[in-house]
Amino acid sequence: MSNGLNGLHGLPELNILNPATEEVVATVPTTSAAEVDAAVRRAAAAQESWAAVAPGDRARILRRFADVVDAHITPLAELELREAGHPLGNAEWEAGNVRDLLHYAAGGVERLTGTQIPVSGGLNITIQEPLGVVAVIAPWNFPMPIAAWGTAPALAAGNAVLLKPAETTPLTALRLAELALEAGLPEGLFQVLPGEGPVTGSALVDHPGVAKVVFTGSTATGRQIAARCAAQTKRLTLELGGKSPNIVFADADIEAAAAAAPGSFLDNTGQDCCARSRILVQRSVYDRFMELLEPAVKAFTVGDPRDPATQMGPLISAAQRERVRSYVPEDAPAAIRGEAPAGKGFWYPATVLEGRPEDRTATEEIFGPVAVVLPFDDEADAIRIANTTDYGLSGSLWTRDVGRAIRVSRAVAAGNLSVNSHSSVRYWTPFGGFKQSGLGRELGPDALSAFTETKNIFISTELSTEESK
Ligand code: NAD
Repeated sequence: MSNGLNGLHGLPELNILNPATEEVVATVPTTSAAEVDAAVRRAAAAQESWAAVAPGDRARILRRFADVVDAHITPLAELELREAGHPLGNAEWEAGNVRDLLHYAAGGVERLTGTQIPVSGGLNITIQEPLGVVAVIAPWNFPMPIAAWGTAPALAAGNAVLLKPAETTPLTALRLAELALEAGLPEGLFQVLPGEGPVTGSALVDHPGVAKVVFTGSTATGRQIAARCAAQTKRLTLELGGKSPNIVFADADIEAAAAAAPGSFLDNTGQDCCARSRILVQRSVYDRFMELLEPAVKAFTVGDPRDPATQMGPLISAAQRERVRSYVPEDAPAAIRGEAPAGKGFWYPATVLEGRPEDRTATEEIFGPVAVVLPFDDEADAIRIANTTDYGLSGSLWTRDVGRAIRVSRAVAAGNLSVNSHSSVRYWTPFGGFKQSGLGRELGPDALSAFTETKNIFISTELSTEESK
């Protein structure tokens, strides 16, 4: 990924490749530990003034940022297409999501109220104070939305943000920082620090001037970061991996379940922490479901991300393709295999495997367009299999029985469940994982609170000794 060296500090530069063509689209300098230190100092100074800006004015500036992003949806999407290979329509949605997150967070600034709690002898109030400087460490799978999940509410709550994008996808983040300045955000308040995880990311995690880390990525890296944050009692939100079930009961609308299944594990080429990559199907409808699934998977259009008809682009990198191949060698028997372009680009075909719940393909996050189908006998069996994973991010279930929908939703150990649909992420509803899928929640009505400390203040109303005389 890196072949040049930065003139200033001898660190490697990032060569950003278009995953659909393997062409170098940009070369980006990385950020050294000393530069991270300087960025933290600038951010701390900017944060002090930002927290003192009247709430209405802070909200107005964030709305202006949202409006500037809105005016740049197409160029941002084109940049995302070039660095991440996302189909243009998806990338436009992602840029629009940044705009929406900023508007939603801006609406929270004046609503960041504390409480008044009844006590005797005085008045007790709580206030929500900003944390200070927040580090957002983002992954490459949804570079813009996930960066904004942390950034928008953190800024709205009065914090400064240092965003470290993933090595492969820094371009949209860098552009967003320019747009923030154009919108009137103070210098230093929102800085983007491209670089390698173990250098730039590590320096941010370990810096004592960083009050909170918001990390999205692999469970292994998340665990390491958690241990390092623990050493400084640093606040932390983790959004980690998933191996989410899609449970199809015999009483469901099987046609609808089969039609929706491909998108649930092929969208973003399966590089989605919420991908429904384990399809659990009740044994009595298994054959019928597979009959319907095959044409639906094969109809999922794979190809040039610039073509409006394209539903699935390439994987992010050669390394990611190798990782996916390590789970499914080319000659592995697959129940369904789609097509993928030949030649340049990190292409991988849609693949559906049959297997057992304990198989590696059914327990580990593959992060590619691969699902495994597992038969089950009854509701208890479905719940048992669904929970046979260390992860607990999302899940879907298809049934016409309302009681079953509620029972199973409550029994599956995951943070985001969806009945007769695969929706899991809306910026105004909470999102996060159980078990090894994470720690804390993002988005939703409490998003800003995750970037504040609660301060409790008691004010005595007792007469002073002098006045009581
Ligand atoms: P990763 O977790 O290593 O990287 C995610 C982010 O963390 C990147 O910005 C990276 O630079 C940074 N990082 C890496 N090491 C760091 C460190 N020591 N300190 C601070 N920051 C650090 O993920 P990856 O290697 O890009 O992908 C590997 C696998 O992770 C994927 O195949 C997939 O299974 C999983 N993944 C999951 C998600 C998700 O949304 N849950 C996102 C990306 C990757």
